[in-house]
Amino acid sequence: MKHFSFAALVTSVAIAAIGAAQAATKAPDRYVLVHAGTLLAVPGKPPEKEMTVLVKNDRIAGVSKGYLDAAAAGLAPDAVVSLIDLRNRFVIPGLMDAHVHLMGEPTFSRHRTERGDRNPPTPAEGTVNTMVYARRTLAAGFTTVRDLGSDDQAVFAVRNAINAGRMIGPRILVSGSALAVTGGHGDSLPIDATGDPQARLRDGTCDGPIECREAVRFQYKLGADVIKFTATGGFGSNTGLDPQFFPDEIEAIVSTAHLLGLKAAAHAYSPIAIKQAVRAGVDSIEHGFLVDDEGLALMKKSGAFLVPTLSASYPPPIFRIPDPESVRIRNEHKAFERAYAAGVKIAFGTDAGTFAHGDNAKEFGLMVKFGMSPMDAIRSATVVTADLFGISADAGTIEPGKVADLVAVAGDPLQDVSALLAVDFVMKSGRVAKQAERMIEPFTYPPPSATF
Ligand SMILES: [Zn+2]
Repeated sequence: MKHFSFAALVTSVAIAAIGAAQAATKAPDRYVLVHAGTLLAVPGKPPEKEMTVLVKNDRIAGVSKGYLDAAAAGLAPDAVVSLIDLRNRFVIPGLMDAHVHLMGEPTFSRHRTERGDRNPPTPAEGTVNTMVYARRTLAAGFTTVRDLGSDDQAVFAVRNAINAGRMIGPRILVSGSALAVTGGHGDSLPIDATGDPQARLRDGTCDGPIECREAVRFQYKLGADVIKFTATGGFGSNTGLDPQFFPDEIEAIVSTAHLLGLKAAAHAYSPIAIKQAVRAGVDSIEHGFLVDDEGLALMKKSGAFLVPTLSASYPPPIFRIPDPESVRIRNEHKAFERAYAAGVKIAFGTDAGTFAHGDNAKEFGLMVKFGMSPMDAIRSATVVTADLFGISADAGTIEPGKVADLVAVAGDPLQDVSALLAVDFVMKSGRVAKQAERMIEPFTYPPPSATF
């Protein structure tokens, strides 16, 4: 089943980038030669030294040994070619984060409302926040992210603007409102709107299989790329960690999402809820701190991914005092370590938004601290996330035919994964977004006549 139309998304970016002028006369193909001192083209396989990546428009056209010039790369003498010198850099595929919340982040500012960091922000504030945080996320080397839980407007609007080439940011897969039961983790309705059908739809609040089907379809109508539901309570809402949906409601959500070609992601702590979600065919368990061995075995069998969000329990102290309860539970149950040992697929995800956006790569340090090899951690944020998102044919590695999403760092992240904290080069879909530590505006903005 096709879960996500990556081709259509990329095509729209390319069309917007090329602009209206090309509609009349076809612009020449645009080539980029990237000379990579070290290239980790396929995380999981060893890196190679002194490599050339040939980019044609938005895609990778070739990967070759040695530093090739245009002629050696087989390009015509009149081809439009630019060269990017990363001979003293370590180059990896664009990173992906399977769990972010781009509408907000914590702040100690005494002027919270001026920064739009009210919780929850208004849709207008959330849109501005998302624009700022999306750009910061891309600058940190994350070229694709999955936003799991926002409102019914802000992140959709920013995703669409990025896809249309109107602003710079990562590819965003959006869930819209997370589905939650009345009074559950994610029900943000005021008491007097609890019975209002329209308010419930927009908030993703649903009780019973019929209403939960309707809630999935409403997010689908808004343009959701993925469906998120909160199978249990959570720390943020002080609703405990126990099950909140019945199995028939979970089944209704997951099967409706799949019917519509969308993946389903379950926020879940309780081991009972985790198993109910996995039995219903859920694609990922978010957090999963209390997973038991039976749950891990079920995940291994079904192919469900764990998205560990270690950062949500170990935020940088400058932004938030770690919730001692979530740290205690994480350290006691060691779900990440046990899932890794059991061979469960682990997709990199941070819960950015509960801490500062742009600090996503700190998760790598935690994964390695808790026993994962740096190679597996990088693989988790590229090959494995692409698999979870259903975009492996288009992204996750640096191979011919895939979108040209490239990130470079000084130093060797396989020796010291903290090298990934200092991404100084980012290419997304063949366009340079960051070079020499500075963000640049790579997209051609469509003229007003083309958009209005
Ligand atoms: Zn979250």
